[in-house]
Amino acid sequence: MNPSGRAVPLLTRCVVCGAKNLRDVEVLSAALIQTWELAPAEVDYVNAQQGRHCADCRSTLRCMALAKAILRFYGSVGNFDEFAKSFTAQRLRVLEINEAGGVSAYLARFPGRILAPFPRVDMQDLPYPNASSYHGTAADGEGYLVQTEFGADAWRWPLAAGFSELRVTTVESPAAHAWTAIP
Ligand SMILES: [Zn+2]
Repeated sequence: MNPSGRAVPLLTRCVVCGAKNLRDVEVLSAALIQTWELAPAEVDYVNAQQGRHCADCRSTLRCMALAKAILRFYGSVGNFDEFAKSFTAQRLRVLEINEAGGVSAYLARFPGRILAPFPRVDMQDLPYPNASSYHGTAADGEGYLVQTEFGADAWRWPLAAGFSELRVTTVESPAAHAWTAIP
């Protein structure tokens, strides 16, 4: 199968706030497309990734992929706005490293959310006490301190840390993906 083929349907409503108010902005100029020698399929997904957004809450597709991954992990139906009001969300501990676009306003409703914006917070030297930014727990030695900015080899790190599953959640692939590490 051609990986550039459209296997994932286009969104009809925002995953974050639920609005049916998605808009497109073309972020690539003709000159840039020519300079970068982009194929039509590449132009489409870069424009979708960077330019498709919800006019109501300003979430981009990347924000929606993040929201969808969290919703799936907790088995939540509905949108992220609804999830943010749930008992589950109110009990979560969340470390948000740099504001997560349109999702950030909803994460701010979580009592257990810590925002760590660059450059005020150095990811290599997080100012939070141990066990406040762990996958797992620090107390029993099973936890894994979050201290690496992930790159193209990101998939290796959660598995090396002891997670047994890595889930890729997408909206309009290949425009926007989010990964969920599962114990
Ligand atoms: Zn929205």
